[in-house]
Amino acid sequence: MHIHPSETLPRHHKETLLGQKGGVLWFCGLSGSGKSTIANALEHVLHDKGRFVVRLDGDNLRTGLNSNLGFSDDDRLENIRRTAELGKVLASNGVIVLCSLITPRGAFRDLARGILGDDFHEIYVKADYATCEARDPKGLYAKAAAGEIKNFTGLDSAFEEPQEPNLVIDTETLSVQDATFEILEYLRTKRLTV
Ligand code: ADP
Repeated sequence: MHIHPSETLPRHHKETLLGQKGGVLWFCGLSGSGKSTIANALEHVLHDKGRFVVRLDGDNLRTGLNSNLGFSDDDRLENIRRTAELGKVLASNGVIVLCSLITPRGAFRDLARGILGDDFHEIYVKADYATCEARDPKGLYAKAAAGEIKNFTGLDSAFEEPQEPNLVIDTETLSVQDATFEILEYLRTKRLTV
């Protein structure tokens, strides 16, 4: 065994160990557009293929790391900054990271892109307000319509559509299975997986 205490273990050694390249798939879109559902399905498929994946879900992180943050623009920005920084640590250690956060403004996405650089892959999970309202998986749209939620994205807090995402997943037309397949293809073209 060689011991080089002063040398940092290079990223590509970990990537070789894992048989993949690190990177962050950043899923943005309205609440209920399908970010978590698709990230969850993708994690299962990648795991079954022997890939090592970590999911960072906005809602889950808000119960721990980001529990002191609300939904003002400043807090959303800090929420995104912390998530991007965590994603950066993981990706630079060879992990495929799936981040699901509404990320409603171009400036927020620019912040994440700035932190992650080439490791940032923007995936717009697209469904319009009416579709998400009809799905309402967490009952948030009903509460927002009743005036019980302030700064609700798409209602009294704007969602700026991504202008040049790496990939658009339209969940009004694509099934979860088809969406997963498209993202797997994307990962192959970007050589994150073989
Ligand atoms: P988000 O993470 O974007 O807030 P969720 O994944 O929690 O959204 O919720 C999306 C809801 O929409 C789920 O109830 C899911 O079953 C439903 N749904 C219907 N069609 C699709 C689709 N094609 N892709 C993803 N989710 C879909």
